[in-house]
Amino acid sequence: MGSRPTPMMEQYIEIKAANEGSLLFYRMGDFYELFFADAVEASKALGITLTKRGKHLGEDIPMCGVPVHAADDYLQKLISKGFRVAVCEQTEDPAEARKRGSKSVVRRDVIRLVTPGTLTEEKLLDPSEANFLMTLGRVKGAEEGRMALAWIDISTGTFRVAETAPGRLLADIMRIDPRELIVAEPVFHDPELRPVFDMIGRAVTPQPASLFDSAIAEARIKRYFDVAALDGFGQFSRCELSAISGAIAYIEKTQLAERPPLMHPEREEEGSALFIDQATRANLELVRTLSGSREGSLLKSIDRTVTGGGARLLAERLTSPLTDPAAIAMRQDAVSFFLSEHQLTEDLRQELKGVPDMPRALSRLAVGRGGPRDLGALQRGLEAARGIAALLSGHVVLPPELEAARIALASLPQDYAEHLDRALHDELPLLKRDGGFVRSGYHPELDEMRALRDQSRRVIAGLQARYTDETGIKSLKIKHNNVLGYFIEVPASHHATMTSSDEAKGRFIHRQTMASAMRFTTTELAELESKIANAADRALSIELAIFDELTNETVVQAQAIRAGAAALALLDVSSALATLAEEQGYCRPLVDASLAFNIVAGRHPVVEQALRRQAANPFVANDCDLSPQGDEYHGAIWLLTGPNMGGKSTFLRQNALIAILAQMGSFVPAGSAHIGVVDRLFSRVGASDDLARGRSTFMVEMVETAAILNLAGERSLVILDEIGRGTATFDGLSIAWAAVEYLHEKNRCRALFATHFHEMTALSEKLARLANVTMRVKEWDGDVVFLHEIARGAADRSYGVQVARLAGLPEAVVNRARDVLHQLEAGETSGKADKLIDDLPLFSVEVKREQPKQKGDSALQQAVLALNPDEMTPREAMDELYRLKALA
Ligand code: ADP
Repeated sequence: MGSRPTPMMEQYIEIKAANEGSLLFYRMGDFYELFFADAVEASKALGITLTKRGKHLGEDIPMCGVPVHAADDYLQKLISKGFRVAVCEQTEDPAEARKRGSKSVVRRDVIRLVTPGTLTEEKLLDPSEANFLMTLGRVKGAEEGRMALAWIDISTGTFRVAETAPGRLLADIMRIDPRELIVAEPVFHDPELRPVFDMIGRAVTPQPASLFDSAIAEARIKRYFDVAALDGFGQFSRCELSAISGAIAYIEKTQLAERPPLMHPEREEEGSALFIDQATRANLELVRTLSGSREGSLLKSIDRTVTGGGARLLAERLTSPLTDPAAIAMRQDAVSFFLSEHQLTEDLRQELKGVPDMPRALSRLAVGRGGPRDLGALQRGLEAARGIAALLSGHVVLPPELEAARIALASLPQDYAEHLDRALHDELPLLKRDGGFVRSGYHPELDEMRALRDQSRRVIAGLQARYTDETGIKSLKIKHNNVLGYFIEVPASHHATMTSSDEAKGRFIHRQTMASAMRFTTTELAELESKIANAADRALSIELAIFDELTNETVVQAQAIRAGAAALALLDVSSALATLAEEQGYCRPLVDASLAFNIVAGRHPVVEQALRRQAANPFVANDCDLSPQGDEYHGAIWLLTGPNMGGKSTFLRQNALIAILAQMGSFVPAGSAHIGVVDRLFSRVGASDDLARGRSTFMVEMVETAAILNLAGERSLVILDEIGRGTATFDGLSIAWAAVEYLHEKNRCRALFATHFHEMTALSEKLARLANVTMRVKEWDGDVVFLHEIARGAADRSYGVQVARLAGLPEAVVNRARDVLHQLEAGETSGKADKLIDDLPLFSVEVKREQPKQKGDSALQQAVLALNPDEMTPREAMDELYRLKALA
């Protein structure tokens, strides 16, 4: 056994024990040190050296460390790798500890838990993405089984809550896409919800159920917001209160001493957002492609914003399109306004480019993690806001959204803004402890102290000249080093002069003798030195006090600053959408309460831009009209046939994307568009591969189709691509057939259905609202040319063989396939395959094949030739193998 742990190790072990599950960053001077298993894990994750420090119970203690000034970079790496970090600081001056006794350890405390959902640092955040922490509340009793989600971005203060239900939980979580989901332990272990947690691909953190206790939820919320009653926030159900309170409790738990200023929780009404289930969201590649990249997503293609706040607002609008035509029209009005005001739009966007991320700077200041540059960001933001408000006031009539934004900007606290202007220097240091961020002329004593400090050189130079005069030593110098501070140095040869008279001895106090020089000081010099040091200290402490004062003032103004920042984000998004509309030739869609869906000359927003970038043939625009026809009340279904590569998927997706763009308030890639508001958008497109989770492609397809058929209503828009492809022909055809009938008769929704089963076109005779359309192709010399053009009617052929040839299948295979196809087409419905075997010789082209030299010459060969693997069960195959082995 080794010796007892040192007092410091004792302290470490105690703090570590209280923070299981997190890596402990233990502050020692200029480093955060990690010990034991933490050190091993962190050194591996960060690629830093693992060393050791002392012993514990006779064993070396593994250790690694990261410098405090670079801690953000390391934190980011660890958080992105799924770690949580407890940051433990020294909470007293080492001198204090020494006063308690020589063996005393400096007091330390964990001041913060860093988790993916509770970040505020600029380096740890993506400016264009929100960073949500989400909680799931569920209560027993009267509201049995009801659930709610609350989500907070502490980097901006956003706080929302909405009820959810087991069937839509995944879709609701993925719409917000939180960085971290917090659930009560019993919920975490609920076998019914587990699959959802497994699927979201983000950290799911179980927490004690007490955080979510709805009985004490109200009290906790009131305490946090320092209000006597919650009535002012609106009405919340018990599960909503539980979710809100869980979020607050988790923030208190991770932020410890700090209270990030949050906005009041805002309730999202059910049905106010277009519901898009998770499969659809992923398949339509709204914010990310299926392979996970942002490049190639719809968001990336339409994003013309120039500020972080604008980019975040655009993403929020895209992921939660509206369902209220009036609200949509308000957003469109703002876009229309900018489209008609070129000069203003240009000036506005120029101003916006200089707008820093105010909400995040504000949050950092409020939790004590801010620096001078955060104050600077607010200053510049407010300055830009003033300019923008002035730009907008030049226009007498603004649409309501923009007028509201103008008012928010005009209401920004001017005194506060001017205070920042007066106080802050043009160039700002990153850290407040470096000082130098307060403008001269702002604080008289500060100016004086700085003058003292800065004049030091001149005063000292004067002193040196005087001493040289007095002593007559030309080479006398006043120098400075860290050990002695300021000192007078003369060459050793002048030793006699400095010590000759009593007077000289009394003045020049000997400090050090070097080989070739002697060093002295004087009372005068010592006094000057302490004055300089004091001045620097005093200057810094004045600056820090000013920093605190400005920070406090900032927090007081938080509400107004947030409103101003929200107004700037709105202006950015509206003008960016106008820019997009102009650049890409988008039109303003008419969105109303009808069941229309009439897109004239629609295009795919992402493919269109991609084709243009590649300077390929331009995108072919296509109409899509699913509006109720004649005296029908319900919308129509288009059954789309056509060859592979004809553009079916593109057409299906483009119409879904146009609906989303229209309802988020954007203009759309079309000549004109009339859309009766869609309440739910469903799609089953592409082969989203769930194989990793052990479900076959076909199973996934059926699960998704089932969800659609069970949930789609008359206001829904349904996009189905190649249902039934994943199984045998007749199975597939029958499933697709039945699904279309069901959509037509039961769901009665607007739908696009692409299929390669040409047999299904017969359905149009029976189903009144079903129309056949096809992607046109031209045949040219036995080849196909895809026109990417929609036309009424059914495809006469599938051109699979021609497509195969384009894909580069060997000529022999293409020719053979063509023969087989001719035979099949000429044949009867039944017994086709049998007939083929009889009629067609195998490969009419010459194929070299190794023939067995003497066919059937051994018992083994006989046996092998007699086998018919296609007919065998696995069991029989095994038995045969054993038999063959015995023959050999
Ligand atoms: P399908 O689903 O019928 O197999 P896709 O929709 O995948 O066909 O389209 C095949 C290719 O044709 C894509 O590479 C796409 O870029 C191009 N394409 C599709 N629609 C159009 C169009 N309207 N205009 C121009 N090119 C198109």
